[in-house]
Amino acid sequence: MEKEIIFKQLKEIESNLFMDENMGKHVSFRAGGKADFYVEPSTEKNLINILKFCQENAMPYYLMGNGSNILVRDGGYAGIMINTKNLQDIQIISNGISAQAGASLGGVAQQALAGQLEGLAFASGIPGTVGGAVVMNAGAYGNEIKNVLEFVEVLNEQFEKETFLVNQCELGYRNSIFRHKNYIILRVNIKLSKGDYNKIKDEMEDLNHRRCEKQPLSFPSAGSTFKRPKGYYAGKLIDDCGLRGHQLGGAQVSEKHCGFIINKDHATATEIEALIKLIQKEVKQKFNVDMQTEVILIGKC
Ligand SMILES: Cc1cc2nc3c(=O)[nH]c(=O)nc-3n(C[C@H](O)[C@H](O)[C@H](O)COP(=O)(O)OP(=O)(O)OC[C@H]3O[C@@H](n4cnc5c(N)ncnc54)[C@H](O)[C@@H]3O)c2cc1C
Repeated sequence: MEKEIIFKQLKEIESNLFMDENMGKHVSFRAGGKADFYVEPSTEKNLINILKFCQENAMPYYLMGNGSNILVRDGGYAGIMINTKNLQDIQIISNGISAQAGASLGGVAQQALAGQLEGLAFASGIPGTVGGAVVMNAGAYGNEIKNVLEFVEVLNEQFEKETFLVNQCELGYRNSIFRHKNYIILRVNIKLSKGDYNKIKDEMEDLNHRRCEKQPLSFPSAGSTFKRPKGYYAGKLIDDCGLRGHQLGGAQVSEKHCGFIINKDHATATEIEALIKLIQKEVKQKFNVDMQTEVILIGKC
């Protein structure tokens, strides 16, 4: 089917649809190629209908949240990128919060604060959606989503809703069952306990202050580029290879925090990936340690 015809048919399902969309606009690295199609479903029903369209037409799709841990290579994505950002209903429930997958973690943490609910302060500065946070088992300051998750509601490949209790999600270090199996997270239930407003607020402010001090937040990035290798710190290994501030095109190892690759100056995804590979090679040569990326690269070179 021709691209224009696909576009017309998809547009009948959802109007927030774009063709040949520059994905650099939608990922936190502010770099990368185009997607054939990019859609922001305005309702869960539209999301499901888009997925059905993809299945009927054998069209590849990729679910994204806030794009704070993904990079689309410069050759682009041949298919449709589906962004959950409009599915952001947040409800305070008896023992916590129930939020649609596209709700921002920061927003959910703010709602928890307003409801004097304790347990999510650690996540308030992670710039992802709750859906993305479950997929990645996002964590910070000794805590992780696994510790507060109760259950998620997902859509399976037959477009049926299923519930996964926390112990069925196989949550590990920046890992979950959802990274390996084709489920779409629709809703996330987080269990929290009653706390003191000022104490929660102070904790959030303290952690966010620490983030600002340590991390290069004034440049686009995807946070820590690499997972922490067992027994080491990624940033220290990179620093000890003499790569602090090393620049490749517009991509740079942050001077402030070597664990972050930043988009210093109009970096391309190719430059970012080349810098990742250079770091992996140098660290392997010098310390015999394999550096696995935390950031997920998709699409064609
Ligand atoms: C400045 C900065 C600081 C960061 N700090 C931290 C930190 O402290 N701790 C940490 O863990 N991470 C951190 N990150 C990384 C990132 O924010 C987290 O990994 C976050 O959880 C990703 O969420 P997202 O919504 O942006 O997901 P995306 O990057 O859009 O997607 C990540 C993965 O989740 C999948 N996905 C997203 N939504 C769904 C869904 N509804 N259903 C199925 N699959 C889905 C995608 O397909 C992809 O595989 C940081 C990033 C930045 C830029």
